[in-house]
Amino acid sequence: MEAGGVDSKGRQFKNAEEMWREQIGKDSDSHKRVDWYRHGVGYWQEVEASVDGVLGGYGRVNDADIKCSEAFLRTVFSELLVDGGKNHLVALDCGSGIGRVTKNLLIRYFNEVDLLEPVSHFLEAAREGLASDGSTASDGHRATNFYCTPLQDFTPEARRYDVIWIQWCIGHLTDDDFVSFFSRAKVGLKPGGFFILKENIARSGFVLDNEDCSITRSDPYFKDLFRRCGLHLYRTKDQTGFPEELFAVKMYALLTEVPKRNSSRSKSRANRPAIINSGSS
Ligand code: SAH
Repeated sequence: MEAGGVDSKGRQFKNAEEMWREQIGKDSDSHKRVDWYRHGVGYWQEVEASVDGVLGGYGRVNDADIKCSEAFLRTVFSELLVDGGKNHLVALDCGSGIGRVTKNLLIRYFNEVDLLEPVSHFLEAAREGLASDGSTASDGHRATNFYCTPLQDFTPEARRYDVIWIQWCIGHLTDDDFVSFFSRAKVGLKPGGFFILKENIARSGFVLDNEDCSITRSDPYFKDLFRRCGLHLYRTKDQTGFPEELFAVKMYALLTEVPKRNSSRSKSRANRPAIINSGSS
């Protein structure tokens, strides 16, 4: 990625390579890389297990977030899942936090949802919250597996998932781990399955957050990584209705094969929300 970036202290970087060299060093097994991930998880270990906590103090955007995600999921579903919903559907919620996305959205559409989250007190809150949710039990939909693992160490069971949902957590992964995560995760998709990535978007280049060890990437930066992953961008949509001071947020639906569009069905061809810090403008 050639565009330059900034960190939250206002420091400028020529390009992402320069930033990563400093943050994690050249050797992928370096102690710097270990520290990067330790700080990332360490940051979240201090955060309260609540909607406000996982949304960086912006719990009030929950409804707008879920509404937009649901509309996007329904669009992609109606275009890609041509079986009329007869299948037993399974999703994976990556970096699930307290299970906010599962509880408000995924559990209504999928017969089973697995949650993956490295911070144990979040995962426990998710387990408790989902167990106490009567609506999920009554329709037979359930949260099945709770994996306390970070994305960079996770390999899914082969062909288990219809959808792998990754929201507000991929910024914790280095570029190389991003690419290797998606390569492993592809194997976890059923034929015809897809990824949905929902993330904050930098206006250009990237913004490094020194406090929680994560980066916010620009849209071209993401597209460059999708190419490296061999993923095909099927559809994208912007989040609407968020406060102005937050980063823009985009949803990407990603396929492992070149999209085959069903023209009669496809109508229009044609790490949590975060404040944009002073360095990013
Ligand atoms: N996706 C959830 C939580 C967002 S908060 C939601 O939208 O409500 C960001 C989450 O990313 C936290 O739960 C944090 O613990 C998790 N996270 C941090 N580092 C991670 C890593 N390396 N792999 C997976 N998740 C990570």
